[in-house]
Formats: sequence, C-alpha cells, structure tokens
Amino acid sequence: HYHVLFATQERIESVVQNGHFHPATVDWQRLDGYRHEGGFALLQACHNGEVTVEALMEAMQQANLRGLGGAGFPTFKKWYFVRQEAGPRYCAINADEGEPGTFKDRYYLENSPHQFLEGALVSAWAVEAEALYIYLRDEYPALHGVLREAIGELEAAGLVAPGYIVLRRGAGAYICGEESAMIESLEGKPGKPRHRPPFVAQKGLFDQPTLVNNVETVYWIPMIWQRGAEAFSSQGRQGRVGLRSFSVSGRVKQPGVYLAPAGITLQELIDEYCDGMADGHRLAAYLPGGASGGILPAAKADIPLDFDTLQEHGCFIGSAAVIVLSDQDDLRGVATNLLAFFADESCGQCTPCRVGTEKMLTLLERSEWDAGLMTQLSQVMIDASICGLGQAAPNPVLGLLKDFRGELAAQNVIVKG
Ligand code: SF4
Repeated sequence: HYHVLFATQERIESVVQNGHFHPATVDWQRLDGYRHEGGFALLQACHNGEVTVEALMEAMQQANLRGLGGAGFPTFKKWYFVRQEAGPRYCAINADEGEPGTFKDRYYLENSPHQFLEGALVSAWAVEAEALYIYLRDEYPALHGVLREAIGELEAAGLVAPGYIVLRRGAGAYICGEESAMIESLEGKPGKPRHRPPFVAQKGLFDQPTLVNNVETVYWIPMIWQRGAEAFSSQGRQGRVGLRSFSVSGRVKQPGVYLAPAGITLQELIDEYCDGMADGHRLAAYLPGGASGGILPAAKADIPLDFDTLQEHGCFIGSAAVIVLSDQDDLRGVATNLLAFFADESCGQCTPCRVGTEKMLTLLERSEWDAGLMTQLSQVMIDASICGLGQAAPNPVLGLLKDFRGELAAQNVIVKG
C-alpha cells in the first residue's frame, strides 16, 4: 500500500487545460483503472499493425517531444538513429533522477506507473528492442515496489512477455544518470561514462544499439497519441512550443511539480504557480537546471526558461529543476556546496574533473578570489572533461563571477581580476 502522488486521467486532462496542479497524496493508479481510460490501446495498436512506426514518429515530431532528462534531443530522431543500426537492439529507460532539485519523474511514476510503462514499451517497440531495461534510482525504494507490482500486472494480463522488462536498481551514484555510465552500471560494472563516439545509439548496452529515454519523455507518448500532437504543440509562451514539468523548490510558498508552458519565465512560474515567494523572502537568485544548470540573478527572472535562451546566458535548463534562492541565502555557501557535491560525485576517471573540482573548492574557500585563475580552471574543465559532470561543475562559480560581484562583496569576498 503506497501513499504516493496521484493523477487520474481526468486530473491529467485538467493539468493540460489549466496548466498546473499541486500534488495530492492518494494511491497509485492500477492497471484496470488505466485500461478503463483507454490505457494500452496504443501499445496494442502498435502490436496489431494498426499504427506504423513512421506515423508514431511523425506525431512525436509534430508534438515537438524532446528528451526531458536534460539534453532535449528530439525523440523521433533518437528513434530514427537507433533504427538505422543493425539489431539486436535494446531500450533502456533512465529513471535515475539524481539531479539535485529534480523530482518530476518520481511524480509521474507515482501518479501512473502504467502510463509510463506503456510509453516505455511503445519506445521499445519503435526500435524493435530485444528487451526493455529500467534503471531506477535506489533512493526511491517505494517506487521499486510500485513498478514491480505494475510489471507483474502487465505480465499477468498478457500485455508483455514475462522477463521482457528488466527492472534494475542503481546504487546511489549521481554519475549513473549520465547515459553511458548508466549503461556500464546496467552491465554490472562501475558507473563510469564512456568516450564518444561511438554513441549509445550505435554501441550501447552489451555493445548493441540502444535507445535511452528519460521517464517523462516516454510518459507523454500515449497521451500525445490519444489527444493528438496539438495537446502538446498548442502550448507554449513567447514563441516556444510544448509543455515542461518544472520541479520547483526553495524559497517559494508552494514548491512542487508544475506542468507549465515551455518558454515561461521564472517570475511567471513563481507568481502564477507557486503563490509567490515565501513570506519574508525576496528573490535574489535561482538555479534554472538543478546543480549543473548554472546560477542566474533576480534581474534575469524574466527570460524564458528554455533550452536555447538559457544557453545564451551560460546556463541550461536540463531537467527543469528550478531552485529559488532569496536574500537570506548565502550564495558563496551555495557555490561551495555545489562544488563539494560535484567533487564527491566525480567518478574520478579524468583529471580535469577529479582534480579540477577539488581545486575549485579550495579557491572558493579563500577570502580573496582570483577571477582569472578560476575562469582558466573552469575553461580547462569545460574543454577537457569526458562527460557533463566535469563540464558543468564550474557553472555556479562562473555565474557568481559574472552576475553577483555586489553580493560577494557584501559577503566580504574580494574578487580580483
Ligand atoms: Fe568521471 Fe568527471 Fe570525467 Fe565525467 S568528467 S568521466 S564524472 S571524472
């Protein structure tokens, strides 16, 4: 019996119509409830030949469905690339959700594990995968039970062959959210990212072509098919298309998971969805993409929170984990905390990241900051680290140097250069 977040299909509908919700705590949706609302009709249509891969890819393209784990790669293209490679192929779902501040995948898995499983099975079908692997974050132990039971229901109902879905637990390493490290871990090895090329679409799990999708990406597939691509593509603000699930935490009145139009700004998100800032707090800064997406000042609260705009400001939206900081937060402490996190979670296989994160920590602890040295070290880490962890680790430091000189001075940090 799990007390988890919940959304019936009507609730999802109201989400799409009204644009937002706040989690309630009731039981997860069972297979019969999901089927009653039309669940698994798409999967069965795929298996019966009533839906072609081409039609499905076109619908995903029209909906502008992109990878919602962080990279934002168009879903239909990923399917296409994997399909170009000779089989056997695999499908692996990244349910590691380790980015600090991100909890949207958990929300959807807890809401409706069957909608997720249908989307995952449709993805696996689209690339003719031999097996479907799910890599679940071990810090979600209740979800392991939810998924195990849901998979059992599917097998008993004859919707999936026993053993086709393989549910694997992670072991608490942040780096295993990186797709090639996740694949190493699935193979039973230490989770160390691989060099690319070859990409996992060419040589992934057990050296075979592998489709890696995020939980939320596949979660939307049945809904997009059922409601039509416009359910997604008709949403959006400031010229951006689609919907994004923001995990909002920090100094707001109502933190939570909010499904909001792509292109929304932080200020709009706080005002329209989170009931404003927490009492007694004034917006000072925010992390738009968890630990690795950088840091922006309150003055930039009116830029669209999307892939491209944030990149122009040296940040990225990643998994849309928005952490709101106020005038009562110690920004230097935030940067030090983030760097300590990266130093701790570095897999250690490449020097720029292993040594760079430790070195940056010592530089941050000084009362006089050498901006030139910090920028140079950041550049080496960005240019020479094997994977995104080392490349993104300096982002909080670069953000502070760029936009927070006044706040640093108020904290008695002298920045030279
Ligand atoms: Fe490992 Fe860091 Fe190098 Fe990534 S950048 S491979 S986490 S040492």
